[in-house]
Amino acid sequence: MPALLYKLLPELAELGASSQVTGTLPLDVLSKGALSVDLRDGLAYDLLLSNTGNGILLTGSVSATGTTECSRCLEPASLELTGEVEGYFITNPRDEELELADDEFALVPANGEVDLAPAVSAAAIFELPQVVLCQPDCRGLCPHCGVNLNVASCDCASLLAADHPFAALGELL
Ligand SMILES: [Zn+2]
Ligand SMILES: [Zn+2]
Repeated sequence: MPALLYKLLPELAELGASSQVTGTLPLDVLSKGALSVDLRDGLAYDLLLSNTGNGILLTGSVSATGTTECSRCLEPASLELTGEVEGYFITNPRDEELELADDEFALVPANGEVDLAPAVSAAAIFELPQVVLCQPDCRGLCPHCGVNLNVASCDCASLLAADHPFAALGELL
């Protein structure tokens, strides 16, 4: 994953200091489980970093457009994503916070620089849907002969109708 390094300290060392960070993370692919989305123009972000006392709060949004396979017919399907970014960088850790640190709750290293890319990409990945369709009423592939029912038809449904002599065969398939 490309890094998005940002120097939090000393620039944002004072309570109430804030900074807006906008740009595009040059990511080509986002994936979750079996779903993989090719991004058209990377992942756009609009972030706000603000010092809240014990740490620096990260909020903002991400957006992207991309293509993937339709979950039903496997043809290309386009997708628009938006997500909310959240993170917290601890500048003055107490002991219990040292043990809790993870991707969204990270310690600021001695050089004051952190990588915002994990929080930005996680916000988009979180919004990836389970199912993507090329069109809302995609008819998918025939489960028996594999024809794309959006562009062609087949006789499988009538052959497998309950009153047909081959119906029992269809159930075996
Ligand atoms: Zn489809
Ligand atoms: Zn068929």
